Amino acid sequence: YDDRDGKIWMDGQLVDWRDAKIHVLTHALHYASSVFEGERCYNGKVFLSRKHSERLLKSGEMMDMAIPYTVDQIEAAKQLVLKENDLTNAYVRVVAWRGAGPDMGVSSARNPVRMAVTAWQWGDYYGDAKMKGAKLDIAKWKRPSPETIPTAAKAAGLYMICTMSKHAAEAKGCSDAMFFDYRGYVAEATGANIFFVKDGEVHTPLPDAILNGLTRQTVIGMLKDRGITVHERHIMPEELESFEQCWLTGSAAEVTPVGQIGDYNFEVGALTKEMSQAYEKLVRE
Ligand code: PMP
Repeated sequence: YDDRDGKIWMDGQLVDWRDAKIHVLTHALHYASSVFEGERCYNGKVFLSRKHSERLLKSGEMMDMAIPYTVDQIEAAKQLVLKENDLTNAYVRVVAWRGAGPDMGVSSARNPVRMAVTAWQWGDYYGDAKMKGAKLDIAKWKRPSPETIPTAAKAAGLYMICTMSKHAAEAKGCSDAMFFDYRGYVAEATGANIFFVKDGEVHTPLPDAILNGLTRQTVIGMLKDRGITVHERHIMPEELESFEQCWLTGSAAEVTPVGQIGDYNFEVGALTKEMSQAYEKLVRE
């Protein structure tokens, strides 16, 4: 993945893909001091591009890490990267991190905050799950309390248990894992929010200990526009059995149907299909 043609924006300038390197004493590598965004560009337009850039800056603020770029500068960097790599349909990854510098311990007060913007072609996040429904494992780890870690930040530190849970899921033949949170409520998947359907109404966890995804917010708006009742609430594990349909939302995941979570099965029903297709249409408008 590093040995290929292309351009990456790093700290204000374009560098060759192969040269987009950092030092092993990078603070972020040791202490997870990084924040990032995952976005998709459709037909030359990044969906909710400014909102992603605003969230990146907010994630930085939440960990006392001032990112030395404005939303406009991040927007310009994304456009440049897409153009230079000749991409019109792509995944866009923006990452900001505490770099190497005089501080090699936990403090990073004197080290620079750096940023990179990259983009590449990426198909469906869950492979063929859009047709069949993804199979999810139940993670053994719990999403932490907002008093433990800034859960509203899209920060690297929150993904340690995501990678561990995703690997455990893949080893069981699942494509992802669903977390419960520290209180035991249904939370989210490792890189996507979760929705359920029952009796024509939609239920989704309150975003009080999870990332309030931009796709989640978009899909709630789409459901309300259709006059469908959406309950944002705490969902108990024992309720999983009673839900008829389930889907995941995320910038990478888009709207992906779920067919199974642990021992519970869901149908890829009419509303799930409708929302998946309507989202695909909306992002290309
Ligand atoms: N939860 C987690 C843990 C995620 O990584 C993501 C992907 N950013 C989401 C939810 C969905 O967020 P969004 O819709 O803004 O991509």
